[in-house]
Amino acid sequence: MAELAALAQPQPIGLPPANLTLTDAQLHGRACVHCGDTDGRLVPAGHRYTPDGRGRLGWAVAAHPEHLIAARYEAAQLPPDEHGRRPWAIINHQNAAWETDGEVVRRFPTHHSAETFMALMRYEDAARAVAGR
Ligand SMILES: [Zn+2]
Repeated sequence: MAELAALAQPQPIGLPPANLTLTDAQLHGRACVHCGDTDGRLVPAGHRYTPDGRGRLGWAVAAHPEHLIAARYEAAQLPPDEHGRRPWAIINHQNAAWETDGEVVRRFPTHHSAETFMALMRYEDAARAVAGR
């Protein structure tokens, strides 16, 4: 089965694409985009994008519902900056974008600090879900 590198989008200026390898079944919505399993109920889980010549192809992907809040955010380590540091950033899979503070992609010095920030975002998302917003 062909594996394609899906690109999270939009691409932030000055940052590389977020590369996530997905199987053919995941890209076609036949397998969960998060765990890869085909068992159980799958629900729409947004889109992933793959390069296509000069453009890109959008794929409507699916997931097990229980992943959706837990897997909404993912930490990814960025390539070395001009000082050789490798900060972390957060991908928001709900809107396929890097987490920003206004216009600037949020950077975290350690994986732990990114995880702590994601825990806060999940906590706030859960409160919004309970409130029905
Ligand atoms: Zn799953």
